[in-house]
Amino acid sequence: MKKLDKLYEGKAKIIYATDDPDKVIHEFKNDATAFNAAKKGRIEDKGKVNAQISANLFKLLTEAGVQNHFVELLDESVLLTRKVEIILIEVVVRNAAAGSLAKRLGYDEGVELKSPVVEYYYKDDDLGDPLINEDHIKELGLCDETTLKKIRQMALKTNEVLISYMKAKGLKLIDFKLEFGKAGNGDILLADEISPDTCRFWDVETNEKMDKDRFRRDLGNVEESYREVLKRVTGKG
Ligand code: C5P
Repeated sequence: MKKLDKLYEGKAKIIYATDDPDKVIHEFKNDATAFNAAKKGRIEDKGKVNAQISANLFKLLTEAGVQNHFVELLDESVLLTRKVEIILIEVVVRNAAAGSLAKRLGYDEGVELKSPVVEYYYKDDDLGDPLINEDHIKELGLCDETTLKKIRQMALKTNEVLISYMKAKGLKLIDFKLEFGKAGNGDILLADEISPDTCRFWDVETNEKMDKDRFRRDLGNVEESYREVLKRVTGKG
């Protein structure tokens, strides 16, 4: 697989074309940002850790029938994926209150929700990724109704699969963000990454935060927590 031109550089990844028009390479970076890039920093080895955790979880989801973009882990911090056009909706699934939901509903962090809550955000940095509903999605023309239904189903299935897998590793899945894309043949695929950057994981015993909130809130032991998640998820670390 030949690495060709850089197609896109995001906050956490660089995407390159390959000699296969249907596949791209994702290089995961150590750069860390939060609050729409108002806070910037680096998390040592984050690229490696997040690429490997993502690879592992995408494989698990493929086995569970959740179609996703993952093809192969090419190197510790490099993924080969199917090429998709990203749908500009960030899908958040929540099992317990934390972050913006805790604020919005006035809940204490950690309160279990009666059933999973799915939220949509408009993926637009200039607007600060605002919360949107199905009517906004229709108005903005972000995807059609059938696609949105499919995305919601895939997000909830992902939640089921990840909750039980993570529980077995001693981690509570509090919430997470997913992105979806459309492949050249029309398939709707789960895309982007699934990592401590995009999920909230709490230790089941101590409720210790083991995710990007350690960076966002200056809680310390950021690298250690990311490595610990890698160790629990893959057995490596
Ligand atoms: O901040 P908030 O509580 O809305 O975040 C919900 C979940 O979505 C968290 O797991 C967070 O890490 C993730 N998220 C993300 N990228 C964003 C916003 C939130 O990965 N731009």
